[in-house]
Amino acid sequence: MVDARDSKSRDGDIVPVRVRLPAPFFFEKVSMEQSDCIFCKIIAKEIPSNIITQNDDVVVIQDISPKAPVHYLIIPKKHISDVVSLQEADALLAGKMFLMAKELGSKLSGSQAFRLLVNNGSDVGQSVFHLHCHFLSGKKMTGF
Ligand code: 5GP
Ligand code: ZN
Repeated sequence: MVDARDSKSRDGDIVPVRVRLPAPFFFEKVSMEQSDCIFCKIIAKEIPSNIITQNDDVVVIQDISPKAPVHYLIIPKKHISDVVSLQEADALLAGKMFLMAKELGSKLSGSQAFRLLVNNGSDVGQSVFHLHCHFLSGKKMTGF
């Protein structure tokens, strides 16, 4: 916290003050969330969405423009722009996205077949630059 009284010495000279932001402010607002990211806003509940399920690390929402009878988006709560931005430290988180897909698959009726798709880069169709995995099911799919 900044104390304005610290910015002047007893003689009235301006002296430097050390500003220390509380750690939770710094990490949550700068490192974990990106203010212009639609999925960060959905995770922060600033934008409504149809949440299917979530845990500490991952949220699953219904895609607003579904390409299959079942079309979910598996989204890490941490802001990571795309696959190439993943770091070694994100290995567990990336694995948890797959484990979430497994859990979603186990709840499907019928064949329980599903397709996972991750776009990396606008040239292959990535339109939201917060890592996400499309979970598609409910119809016969062939090829790509
Ligand atoms: P991408 O094209 O980046 O691989 O996939 C982004 C997906 O996010 C698209 O399928 C698009 O329909 C979905 N999407 C974009 N904006 C929203 C939104 O505000 N809410 C939801 N639920 N889905 C969104
Ligand atoms: Zn984000």
